[in-house]
Amino acid sequence: MVDHALERRASLASVRAGRVGLLEVCDAGPYLRRAAKFHGERLAGACPICRSGQLFCVNYVYGDGLGPVSGQAKTARELARMDAAQDEFSVYSVEVCRACGWNHLLLSYVLGAEPVPGVAPRRARRRVATE
Ligand SMILES: [Zn+2]
Repeated sequence: MVDHALERRASLASVRAGRVGLLEVCDAGPYLRRAAKFHGERLAGACPICRSGQLFCVNYVYGDGLGPVSGQAKTARELARMDAAQDEFSVYSVEVCRACGWNHLLLSYVLGAEPVPGVAPRRARRRVATE
């Protein structure tokens, strides 16, 4: 698991010091804002930029074995289900403020079944079994 708290702090410090404009860090696009609304989980605490309580966490999944699901936003419950059913995939947890558009990567980590050395991935095994 990679914690991106340091980069987040550095980014916020740059904003406070005036080195980075608000438009550069509060740039959540319509897709990210929608994902926060429909797939996000509300985070405790206020937005570090606008102090609103509209802070959400959105989990994006990426993986070769996920097919069209790769790149989609998933809730914690969906992640737990995928963890049990899928081969390894990556999760990127992004903090998004629905009020001002602040967004930053919080965590990235890997879920799903770890590939066993010398054993074909689950998908390949399934294909062999049906032949
Ligand atoms: Zn905000």
